[in-house]
Amino acid sequence: MKQLAINGGIPVREKPFPVWPIHDRQEAQALTNVLESGKWWRGEGSEIEAFEGEFAAAHDSNYALAVTNGTHALELALATKEIGIGDEVIVPGLTFISTATAVFSENALAIPVDIDADTFCISADAILAAITPRTRAIIPVHFGGHICDMDRIHQIAKERGIAVIEDAAHAHGAEWNHQGLGKSDSLICFSFQSSKLMTAGEGGAILLPNQETWNQAFLVNNCGRLGYSRSFPHEVLASNYRMTEFQAALLRVQLQRLSAQIATREANAVYLDKCLQELVGITPQKRDPRVTKHSYYLYSLRFDSKAFNGLTSSEFVKALNAEGIPCSTVYPPIYKVDFFQNHRFKAGFKFDDLESRINCPVVEQLSKEIVMIPHYLLLGDTSDVDDIVEAIAKIKSASNAEFSKV
Ligand SMILES: *Cc1c(COP(=O)(O)O)cnc(C)c1O
Repeated sequence: MKQLAINGGIPVREKPFPVWPIHDRQEAQALTNVLESGKWWRGEGSEIEAFEGEFAAAHDSNYALAVTNGTHALELALATKEIGIGDEVIVPGLTFISTATAVFSENALAIPVDIDADTFCISADAILAAITPRTRAIIPVHFGGHICDMDRIHQIAKERGIAVIEDAAHAHGAEWNHQGLGKSDSLICFSFQSSKLMTAGEGGAILLPNQETWNQAFLVNNCGRLGYSRSFPHEVLASNYRMTEFQAALLRVQLQRLSAQIATREANAVYLDKCLQELVGITPQKRDPRVTKHSYYLYSLRFDSKAFNGLTSSEFVKALNAEGIPCSTVYPPIYKVDFFQNHRFKAGFKFDDLESRINCPVVEQLSKEIVMIPHYLLLGDTSDVDDIVEAIAKIKSASNAEFSKV
């Protein structure tokens, strides 16, 4: 039996995976063009407007607004819907913290609910159970790029007059029944932070259903003004969420790479699913057949400690990292992080019995099990996937012998 790299053995893989972000002279040229134009600000240049048109079209939408980052996109979406004090917003219990902090930042109460054990996405039944007369919005998170059950979520929202704000920070280019996310009347929020599927280091965008909502969001993003002239009145209480022309120029190039990269990741993910079938104790995220394009920001799987002689998911991740496979454990449940536990919400924030309303057994279980493999590991060829499988199999066969000693 081969000794594990974590115990001094030779790693399965010493070659690096594709480096992220991917870029070439096109990005360099795009940045230089903006630099030399001297038009670095939205009010002067034309890159942001062009990017918004292209990004909207790529998602079957007509209206996109580019902003500073994904967290701000969520805050802005909530502000556009005038959600705030006294309102409740339903979010999945297992997500990156911004899904919840954006709600608290707008002075509304984020209600974490359970997720589906197969797709790792918010459970429609859990949404139904959490709705109260104060519920104003649902924020489904398309976990790892797998779209949530939007047929049911839209139906629930429509019947009750609740807004849907999608957190699509993982889901650039994903499709539901062969249609882009922008086909619905949700507000759909994206991030272009450096780990995401297209990036300018930081950045964000919102897809909006119509011109009226776009104008509303634009006002909030632009200090309460519809234009840039100093004479404009400040119509609403707003902030500044404006993107720079540099970011948009980069993102226009990045967007052109997206669909080919998704095709590569999907093909590698299908192969990885197949290779992992025989490995008892490893259960990849299941794919709803209505997800006709999975963007694979994350290849995520459930790790069953029992099948690995009691190894925990974080020990498994450390062992895999040592074998040369970058991966991580999943986010903690949002209601377990310090600020939430200690109720460090904004001063004067009112909530009743928040804890007693939280009932997320699947989140509890999966937060101990899910392991996430980042998207760029799926941008190579099948020999890269073979290395991932070999490393997992190596840990599996060694787990009885080597880990039983510790
Ligand atoms: C990255 C991320 C965000 C926040 O985006 P930023 O651009 O980093 O602010 C929000 N939600 C989810 C699910 C994310 O992964």
